[in-house]
Amino acid sequence: MDFNFSEEQEILRATVREFAQREIAPRIPEMIQKRRIPHEIIAGMKRLNLLGMTVPEIYGGMGADAVTTAIVAEEIAAADPTVSIPVMFLVHNAWSYLLAKYANRELAAEILPSVARGDKLTGIASTEPNFGSDLGSMTTVAVKSGSGYTINGEKSFISLVRDIRELGGGYVTVAKTDPGKGTAGITLFYLPDNEKSIEITSLEEMGREGSTWGALRFKNYVTESRNVLGKVNEGFKIVHEGFEFARALISVISVSTAMTCLNNGIEYMKSRKAFGQPIGKFQGLQFQLADHMARMEAARTVGYKALWMYDQEQKHGSFSRFQISKQVATAKLLSTVWAFDAINDALQWHGAYGYTRYNPQELALRGIRSFQLAEGSREIMKMIIARESLGRDFFKQ
Ligand SMILES: Cc1cc2nc3c(=O)[nH]c(=O)nc-3n(C[C@H](O)[C@H](O)[C@H](O)COP(=O)(O)OP(=O)(O)OC[C@H]3O[C@@H](n4cnc5c(N)ncnc54)[C@H](O)[C@@H]3O)c2cc1C
Repeated sequence: MDFNFSEEQEILRATVREFAQREIAPRIPEMIQKRRIPHEIIAGMKRLNLLGMTVPEIYGGMGADAVTTAIVAEEIAAADPTVSIPVMFLVHNAWSYLLAKYANRELAAEILPSVARGDKLTGIASTEPNFGSDLGSMTTVAVKSGSGYTINGEKSFISLVRDIRELGGGYVTVAKTDPGKGTAGITLFYLPDNEKSIEITSLEEMGREGSTWGALRFKNYVTESRNVLGKVNEGFKIVHEGFEFARALISVISVSTAMTCLNNGIEYMKSRKAFGQPIGKFQGLQFQLADHMARMEAARTVGYKALWMYDQEQKHGSFSRFQISKQVATAKLLSTVWAFDAINDALQWHGAYGYTRYNPQELALRGIRSFQLAEGSREIMKMIIARESLGRDFFKQ
């Protein structure tokens, strides 16, 4: 076993850390005020090719693996406690990876160079107003018409909707091509955003101040067959490769955000005095800190193992998809729940200051809470772990 990152990965980490601390961290107040990610930050990420990380080099991307992508995600998360920029980074890169892997040659040649440059952002349109976890029950349909498909339906709670509309891009979209067949009748499409056929409605969210979020209504969206990703009716299996990548990235982002708050807490504990001594001398707080530090170390290790397994499976087929699902679910479950608890205690150590608006702990608490739902809820993570432990017979309806 080798727990070291490569020299190239360490250089990339140092470059991104320097960029994130210099160009992202100081602009968080502006992002919160405008509720949008400043264009200069996006331009900086493009400059470093961070929006093309997972697109193959032949299309102008970095062709990075999941572990390397996670290193960048960690550094961005350390600079943005709201998790808005990490979310943009992870959604775009995880789903662009899937797009690049499953797009046919024609679609890939047309779309991937601009995706790699970050000129087109990639989102995921799966959840609907009435169905989220239960993909087989979705009602968005893609009906064969001429040489392509016509898509109708509504998706909701979709991240990046306004960014994609304003900056350009499209969605990896989950739709039913054979509605009678449940999950065996689902197909994935890449659907470029298009004002004529996609109506968007914004939603206000609890945290993630710089993010945009909303609903999409597909109104007779006509697409060519070449926009199918992979094979018709095999979308259920394929989409989980995207969810797994995104979930594994969420695990390291959650730990990174929580570590920023714990480090803020450590500094505060050293300087804030009560009853004649720094509050860091009270064993009650020391033990809380120790529990969180131990959990963060464990969660980060489990998260990186999930990313490493994902890479091994993608490159060499060394693990089964189910082994990946279980490891990824373990990482997402532990990291998102433990990170929320760690941030909550770090907020508490700051006393009343912790409860003031827009301090890093308050921002992080609201932002990180989204990860117990987004890209698969914590209950679904438990279902996956239980299913892989007990066996599938226990999950037949
Ligand atoms: C901030 C944020 C960003 C998001 N971004 C996107 C996006 O970009 N694209 C996208 O497609 N979706 C997105 N989502 C939606 C997200 O993927 C869903 O919220 C999630 O999959 C859960 O689906 P749901 O909300 O419909 O809840 P439901 O599936 O209706 O579930 C409701 C509750 O019941 C629980 N539950 C469901 N089934 C079971 C079961 N069998 N056993 C035990 N408990 C169960 C769930 O865990 C949940 O707590 C986002 C959500 C959030 C909060």
